[in-house]
Amino acid sequence: MEESIRDIDTGVEAGGEDALVGNVNKLIVTPPGYAGAPRKGHLIFDACFESGNLGRVDYISDFEFDLFIRPDTCNARFRVWFNFTVENVRETQRVIFNIVNFSKTKSLYRDGMSPVVKSTSRPKWQRLPAKNVYYYRCPDHRRNYVMSFAFCFDREEDVYQFAYCYPYTYSRLQHYLASLERRNLDYLQREQLGLSMQQRRLDLLTITNPAHLNPEREKKVVFLTARVHPGESPASFICQGVIDFLVSQHPVAQILRDHVVFKIVPMLNPDGVYLGNYRCSLMGFDLNRHWQDPSPWAHPTLHAVKQLIVQLNQDPRVSLEFYIDVHAHSTMMNGFMYGNIFEEEERVQRQAVFPKLLCNNAPDFSLSSTSFNRDVVKAGTGRRFLGGLLDDTSYCYTLEVSFYSYLTAGSTTPVPYTEDSYMKLGRNVARTFLDYYKLNNLIDDSKPTGQMNSLDALSAGRQGNHVGTGKKQDGEKTDRRSHTIRDY
Ligand SMILES: [Zn+2]
Repeated sequence: MEESIRDIDTGVEAGGEDALVGNVNKLIVTPPGYAGAPRKGHLIFDACFESGNLGRVDYISDFEFDLFIRPDTCNARFRVWFNFTVENVRETQRVIFNIVNFSKTKSLYRDGMSPVVKSTSRPKWQRLPAKNVYYYRCPDHRRNYVMSFAFCFDREEDVYQFAYCYPYTYSRLQHYLASLERRNLDYLQREQLGLSMQQRRLDLLTITNPAHLNPEREKKVVFLTARVHPGESPASFICQGVIDFLVSQHPVAQILRDHVVFKIVPMLNPDGVYLGNYRCSLMGFDLNRHWQDPSPWAHPTLHAVKQLIVQLNQDPRVSLEFYIDVHAHSTMMNGFMYGNIFEEEERVQRQAVFPKLLCNNAPDFSLSSTSFNRDVVKAGTGRRFLGGLLDDTSYCYTLEVSFYSYLTAGSTTPVPYTEDSYMKLGRNVARTFLDYYKLNNLIDDSKPTGQMNSLDALSAGRQGNHVGTGKKQDGEKTDRRSHTIRDY
């Protein structure tokens, strides 16, 4: 279905405001009792655009405004993502904006995170200086945590836009995917795997040497998903970094395409992204808690992805080796992973291999923050559910990246992430698959491997044994399944 998007470049969606109910719509904020025509400096707030979010503005003084995040559609528990514009400013007008209704208390705002800003004459997003941002418990707002930031407008004709983090909209993804399609690469396929409740595309990319598309051929599959949580926009930059690398002419990418089939669902929750939600779908579901029993009606995108994964897993010619779901984290630094816990030490060790290799490739990836768990609360997540479904030669991870920054080894100064550095992490994830497959002797490449020494001990004694060598025997597979799902 075509979207009714007229003005893609500014992300303004025309004709669909009813879908954005609850956002402020060109709201002119004048002092109480003011009756005349609006003057310059009477700020106009707007969030009726794609991925926009601002629910209410309270005038405190000419210099101070309380701003309310619009809760996720059908789920008022989640209030984190904001994204709005301000115009009709006066030059040198100084303001303080207080975001007063966050649903979270812990936040990277305590550690130096700041909102991002751009304006029409300076269209590149930047983080505000941390010194202009305050995060504190406020007696005026039922002791909620409030994030205040000071800003000085400098150009009267500019429209300023503020957001929780760098936006990455559904339309942006559609443009990116269309630009990939126009390149007519024989190793890239784009399909519509399904539609969201509001009839947006659920896209699936398959990147591989076309020889692997023959259904009779045995293949290794790496499956990647992103944006199940719509406010976690860094996940889209990572995902685009992965795709950019895999479709490139880089020799590593060419070798990977010759050996592996990459299946990528870049936006699992397109409605949530479009609506400017933080965590939920249109109907207020946290889709990452519904993997066990997704409904084709209530969770159509999740249902379609799960069906595809189950079908791949049942295909005897397919070895589904990795499932990675990309997220962003609101309280941790760096990139890191969550994995599953298994009773067999050997499997635990094997699961740790990919994060270790990634740590060698990505200076922002933290092995010490990487952890493996079996919390009941996470039982409906993709990683946990698929970890139980897939056999013991498959690895399921959540890849998390900080909304804010990373610390590199030996340094205590956080480096704030940019759009580019998120994408770079994606490229590093992609090339790590070659290290993994070379380590496991599944890709024979004459180039020096480098940086492998620390893993020699880990890989010794199991090469040619379990790692990625295909399916286990049926009986064993069933045992593992009951074993890993049973007590959650
Ligand atoms: Zn998430």
